[in-house]
Amino acid sequence: MKIAVIGAGVAGLTAGRILAGSGHEVVVFEKSRGYGGRLATRYAGADNSTKVDHGLPYIEVSSPDIEPLIDEMVEAGILTPWQGPFVHMNEKGELSDVKPSKKRYIAPNGMNQVGKKLARMVDVRTETKVSGVTHIGEDRTKKRSWMLNFPTGLTENFDAVIIATPSKQAYAILNTTIDEVQTLKLLREVDDVEYAPSFSLMVGYGSTDNPDWAMMTCDNDVIESITNETSKRSEDSECAFVVHTTSEFAKKFKDSDRDEVQEIILDELAEILGGWSALPEWKQLHFWRYTKAVNPLPSPFMEVVGNDAPIALVGSYMNGDSVESAYLSGLAIGKFWSDKFSD
Ligand SMILES: Cc1cc2nc3c(=O)[nH]c(=O)nc-3n(C[C@H](O)[C@H](O)[C@H](O)COP(=O)(O)OP(=O)(O)OC[C@H]3O[C@@H](n4cnc5c(N)ncnc54)[C@H](O)[C@@H]3O)c2cc1C
Repeated sequence: MKIAVIGAGVAGLTAGRILAGSGHEVVVFEKSRGYGGRLATRYAGADNSTKVDHGLPYIEVSSPDIEPLIDEMVEAGILTPWQGPFVHMNEKGELSDVKPSKKRYIAPNGMNQVGKKLARMVDVRTETKVSGVTHIGEDRTKKRSWMLNFPTGLTENFDAVIIATPSKQAYAILNTTIDEVQTLKLLREVDDVEYAPSFSLMVGYGSTDNPDWAMMTCDNDVIESITNETSKRSEDSECAFVVHTTSEFAKKFKDSDRDEVQEIILDELAEILGGWSALPEWKQLHFWRYTKAVNPLPSPFMEVVGNDAPIALVGSYMNGDSVESAYLSGLAIGKFWSDKFSD
């Protein structure tokens, strides 16, 4: 079968490589330039030489189910245990040590390396947004059931489609099929999923003088955590942080002027770390509309069953709100469709 996967995050790439491994012709379409989705790394600072993970900062072993992914990435030299130290600052500004109950892993060369590795065995077309999906079915003269539409006006036909984007983007794509197959039930369910947004402020200070902690979590209305990116890198690099805001702050300021948002975050950072931190050599702000699903759906994937045009939804908003749920969702549809379409 010729299968299209829309979205090169952990869910889409995991599904794609299983199906490709089962002999199907798989094409993954990704609207951005890189692989990995929310496992995202920016190249910032002078000569773009400082790597900062502005999406997911680390992967946690939340259950044994995610261990195969972590083991594979550790073996490939992509992930390594993150030893800390981890600290917490309370409302009074007092610091205490944090001893995580679950093991944490980081990628010294950037979290996007996980996506790159997952993509190695799959045909991924980056910078290719899918704008819609049209059912062309058996009753027409076309051989394949689905036609993918691209903003350029080009189209390509497939036997089956997996939509592996955050649910709001999946809704927009699925909505283009609505009059043609039984997707209405899926649409209703997907439409109910809401997300917590967040801002990530990336800041660099030029010097290599770093705090002695790897990550600080905070009891603060604006800042939820500060990741010391330098603590993740193997080579000597400048002091750089990613400051993750609370979702309440992001909700309140999502439509505000971005310079104003940066200033508020930097003022708060200076309160926490000291005045020096308000004057970085460079800064970049990213708004994550879909950081985590607040009301995930209770199944590993959803599909339209009982017609000639297989279409399924996967993603981290299935059975959770984490990188683990993204991986398990992709794994579930990959295995299910490999068995179902094994002839
Ligand atoms: C700041 C931040 C902190 C986080 N912290 C944690 C944490 O501590 N622990 C944890 O477990 N999880 C965390 N997460 C969540 C975790 O990263 C995600 O749940 C997981 O990576 C999502 O994977 P996914 O494959 O479902 O979706 P994504 O990674 O979002 O991948 C979907 C892909 O689809 C692409 N796409 C969308 N629309 C289209 C289209 N029309 N055409 C083509 N491509 C399209 C997108 O560009 C994207 O690459 C965090 C996320 C963020 C942003």
